[in-house]
Amino acid sequence: MSAKPVTIVRTIAGLRAQVAAWRAAGDRVALIPTMGALHAGHLSLVALGRERAERTVASIFVNPTQFAPHEDFEAYPREEAKDAERLSEAGCDLLFAPSVEEMYAPGFSTTVTVAGVSGPMDGAARPHHFAGVATVVAKLFHIVQPHRAYFGQKDAAQLAVLRQMVRDLHFDLEVISCPIVRDADGLALSSRNRYLSPVERRQALALHRALQRIQQSIATGERRSERLLQQGTQEMDTVKVDYLAAVDAQTLLPVDRVEPGTLIAVAAWIGSTRLIDNFLTDLASTTTPELPSAPR
Ligand code: AMP
Repeated sequence: MSAKPVTIVRTIAGLRAQVAAWRAAGDRVALIPTMGALHAGHLSLVALGRERAERTVASIFVNPTQFAPHEDFEAYPREEAKDAERLSEAGCDLLFAPSVEEMYAPGFSTTVTVAGVSGPMDGAARPHHFAGVATVVAKLFHIVQPHRAYFGQKDAAQLAVLRQMVRDLHFDLEVISCPIVRDADGLALSSRNRYLSPVERRQALALHRALQRIQQSIATGERRSERLLQQGTQEMDTVKVDYLAAVDAQTLLPVDRVEPGTLIAVAAWIGSTRLIDNFLTDLASTTTPELPSAPR
């Protein structure tokens, strides 16, 4: 039996009318913003959204303002028909797929800049990126007015920026972060993985290896960031590391020692593809190494 086809809406007015009707009926609305080329990671966000909302809205919008001129805006994969099928099977109610002109009317001149937290990590490599992300997500929040919005922990810096924006601008919604979905060999799913050649695909595993090495080292008691990052770097000699960092997950500022909830994050270039990955330290589940017994 085929699933009920997701309703596709392209205009802000159309979207608002539909969500207003749902809200009037007392339904809760979950929003899952994406740039399309959907994979199991995106669909896990839809599944989590459905757990606590009667209605789920996914958006697909390749947002030009978050790409620098030399980046892959034109080449970014666009496959809306397939994505609509995937969303239908996932039980998503509505796909909001506006044009660039619908989202950015002629004369558009307002930008949301989240100072501080937009600067480190991905913000350092992509200086205007998070202003583009914050601006488009602020627009989506105003347009959809969801009760909750779902984002992947994979984009940890993006989450920190958006949480700060929601606090600062008093958006009346809850931001939910969702676990990273990976391929069987550990590579974090990403729409950009399709850019990788078979050789690069193998090289890309270095990111996961580096994080695993750090995780193991934390599990055996190491807490010094410098030492942990050195160990992780040793696993990445086949890729061009952009950053490997131990930071406070909210401020993204570096920490000298890892604590519960410290974010360990990596970005690296594999050929011309930039990939990211991370984990949050969970010291509750780690063991303290046994000290060697003192000589008697
Ligand atoms: P994107 O289409 O890349 O903008 O991603 C849309 C949303 O899906 C963002 O909140 C991402 O963090 C999330 N996402 C992307 N990849 C994954 C993944 N492997 N696991 C979980 N969430 C993901």
